Amino acid sequence: MNSIAIIGFGPFSQFFTPYITQNFSDVSVWNRSDKSAEAAKLGVKYVSLDEALSKDVIILSTSISFFEELLKNNAKKINPKAIVFDVASVKMKPVELMLKYLPQTCEIVATHPLFGPQSGKDGIEGKNMVICPIRTSKQICIIDFLANKLKLNVMVRTPEEHDKQMAYVQALTHFVARGIAGIKIPYTDQKTIAFEKLIDVRNLLAGDSDDLFLAIQNDNPFAKSVRLEFLNKLNDLNHDLNLENN
Ligand code: NAP
Repeated sequence: MNSIAIIGFGPFSQFFTPYITQNFSDVSVWNRSDKSAEAAKLGVKYVSLDEALSKDVIILSTSISFFEELLKNNAKKINPKAIVFDVASVKMKPVELMLKYLPQTCEIVATHPLFGPQSGKDGIEGKNMVICPIRTSKQICIIDFLANKLKLNVMVRTPEEHDKQMAYVQALTHFVARGIAGIKIPYTDQKTIAFEKLIDVRNLLAGDSDDLFLAIQNDNPFAKSVRLEFLNKLNDLNHDLNLENN
């Protein structure tokens, strides 16, 4: 039976842990700050980093900013036969780091579940999940587990294909949501459907950590140009309106 370790026990890990424990019995977690109470609540073992890195399956689920330090400092402690997954919201950077630091003998499967604690709170069936099978002999059984056990819509992509599309799907969307969250919108009962959807987007993303927001914007090489295109368009629109009103 495979032993599984989740490295990083933040909001996303706590959200997906029940889906792992429903299907596997030997599940351990490690987190930088003490999350043993949260681990006990979810019925998983709380272990040291060294022990977590010795497991058969290692799921990296920390903020992306910690990836390099984690892999660089611990490469020698990682089980050389492990299959290593990540769940990061960008794919090119984590894949580059995993290829650089993980033992050659480790299998690597990069993933991005396109849902989180808020969007998946009523279940994950039918939700999209991107996987980049970087170096693995187990692609078929991984896809089978995700598609048939967890009932996810599995999309096989390269890290570059993923990041290019996510520059719109996430970087642009989260940028707009943070902008909307940053202005004070007074309560109104005079709602339109479009307004309600705008507020829904803001609320859906309100629980994301700053680390996650920064990674989606700064660690996706295609995000900046999409943001700039959007900002330029807003400026043009405003400029045209000012001309019309003069
Ligand atoms: P996050 O803010 O991206 O990550 C929080 C986790 O990272 C915590 O365990 C935190 O430990 C750890 N961490 C941060 N800096 C660290 C450092 N310097 N050293 C050690 N640990 C450090 O929040 P998240 O939402 O849980 O995301 C985790 C991963 O899932 C990320 O890669 C994210 O891109 C991915 N993801 C998130 C979502 C989502 O909707 N939230 C969806 C899909 C994928 P402490 O508790 O000690 O601070």
